[in-house]
Amino acid sequence: MILGAIADDLTGATDLALTLSRQGMRTVQVVGVPAADADYGDAEAVVVALKSRSIAAPAAVSLSVAAAERLLAAGARQLVFKYCSTFDSTDAGNIGPVTAALLDLLGEPLTLACPAFPTNKRTVYRGHLFVGDLLLSDSPMRDHPLTPMRDANLVRVLQAQTELAVGLVGLDDVRRGRGAIEAAFERAKAGGKRIVVVDATEDDDLRAIGSAARAFRLVTGASGIGLGLPENFRAAGLIERHAGPVRLSPSVGRPVILAGSCSEATRRQVAVARKAGLAAMRIDPLAIAAGDCTVEGVVAFVEGVDPGGPALVYASAEPDAVATAQQALGRERAGALVEDFFAETARRLFDRGFSRFIVAGGETAGAVVAALRVDALRIGPEIDPGVPWTLSVGNDRPVALALKSGNFGADDFFLKAWDALR
Ligand code: ADP
Repeated sequence: MILGAIADDLTGATDLALTLSRQGMRTVQVVGVPAADADYGDAEAVVVALKSRSIAAPAAVSLSVAAAERLLAAGARQLVFKYCSTFDSTDAGNIGPVTAALLDLLGEPLTLACPAFPTNKRTVYRGHLFVGDLLLSDSPMRDHPLTPMRDANLVRVLQAQTELAVGLVGLDDVRRGRGAIEAAFERAKAGGKRIVVVDATEDDDLRAIGSAARAFRLVTGASGIGLGLPENFRAAGLIERHAGPVRLSPSVGRPVILAGSCSEATRRQVAVARKAGLAAMRIDPLAIAAGDCTVEGVVAFVEGVDPGGPALVYASAEPDAVATAQQALGRERAGALVEDFFAETARRLFDRGFSRFIVAGGETAGAVVAALRVDALRIGPEIDPGVPWTLSVGNDRPVALALKSGNFGADDFFLKAWDALR
């Protein structure tokens, strides 16, 4: 094992694992802090999926450090801390505190922060994060149920989360290539900076940044940062071939779609799936809290639909409805009610023979995968940028999972995912 990655949510981990495997590294994704005696087989890269994005910062730090220690003990030469390409976080963390703790663990002076993912229209320019044509703070992320992003200036956002000095390496340096980027890193270090936000608007920028980060023991960013790192290992003779993504033999068993993301993209995907005639049921935290919406009811509904195609269960709602539920229940309780509901629904459906799950939402996917007791995943073919089909490893009855970060995927994602598996 050469590269160890720690992702702050499950769909993010899958996204990075897909990038690394497409860049030719044999990659395994594990769920939760790996055991001390974990067997990674012939994996060159291991991506640990935590559920640490929206928990208290001290808990996120201790999970991340525990995962890092295991990865280092297993031979990792470089660590990646992977977070969302929309930099999902609050002033309390968790990107700043986790980055600081990992730098401390490694005794490293400097790391970089680059959430750019140009394929999915996330770009960083002059330290400002854009989602398509919009600044992050003007994008739908401003209304995210757990991590509303109201500032697009990442230097400022990150500086609010950490005492370490945060700097910037601009696109002018990035475009001049590896030598110029390395020189900018040295200047930042000499100026006392400990984390530098790095501009990138194209995949070639990410490759150049990855190349310039060859001596870093810690790199942080979204999955795009994984584009440039494998080549360093290849140049150093640590990996040889260029293996493509694995072909998975699809599991048998009935399918279901569970959507717990309220992102604009997921809401569009729900609308398109319903319009296409998928049997759909909406759940809602207020109804769950009142006892009007039960797991038994939803399981009966899902079991009752045509076994040849997936039913859709969704909590996805407009910002107004989310705000109403959060005012009544509190932000965390509303989120937890929905996540627990999906987790229990998934567990019961699995017991009844369902084994193909399409899940929308990072936190939601984390809850579902924990409920299904999936410890590790192999990465299969890509459905849409950043979202592959995956297959559980080590379970008696394998589960096929398409785990989608809320904002990812084309409008017909649910239909496409199902078609791909079929
Ligand atoms: P994304 O990938 O879009 O961030 P997540 O699943 O990570 O999606 O986060 C969405 C959060 O919103 C979850 O905690 C989920 O339980 C919560 N949620 C889903 N539907 C609702 C709703 N109708 N009202 C309030 N919170 C909701």
